[in-house]
Amino acid sequence: TQFRVHSLHECVLKVISLTESEATRLGHEIHYSESFQPIYMMMDQDKMIQLLLNLVKNAFEAMEESGIIQIKLSRDQKNASLVIEDNGPGIPGELLEKIFHPFYTTKETGTGLGLSICHKIVQDHYGTLEVESQPGQGARFIITFPITDEES
Ligand code: ADP
Ligand code: MG
Repeated sequence: TQFRVHSLHECVLKVISLTESEATRLGHEIHYSESFQPIYMMMDQDKMIQLLLNLVKNAFEAMEESGIIQIKLSRDQKNASLVIEDNGPGIPGELLEKIFHPFYTTKETGTGLGLSICHKIVQDHYGTLEVESQPGQGARFIITFPITDEES
């Protein structure tokens, strides 16, 4: 696929529809707070969806039953921001950097590739991917992308 102008909101909706039935099966809820203004940017749409899917799936896997995932989309003049937050167990401080390394996993059957792929996709869109976590209080992944006026 290739880079075209697409709506970030549409990507989030697609990810929600792709994960809805699994969320229900696992007893999780996805709450989405969308941007007041539409946000369009140059993107590889399939990769953008894969990025968000990976983060939502990680949240599913981290949370016990009845977890809540919050997705927030917003923008300012220069940047779009997507926050994916869960109320699972969180990530210990000493692991916050390691989780982005290829093959790092704490799961019995994990590949450890999800977040390194996420990082690469974000980089390919000139963005940044950060994580914040307080153990016991969930994890928050923050993605920002530069947007230009031509795109919006
Ligand atoms: P995998 O899912 O195959 O383990 P990832 O690269 O997607 O590989 O994630 C790496 C590790 O980061 C996971 O094994 C887990 O320890 C940690 N992690 C990722 N997302 C979360 C999250 N939302 N909550 C807690 N830990 C997480
Ligand atoms: Mg994963």
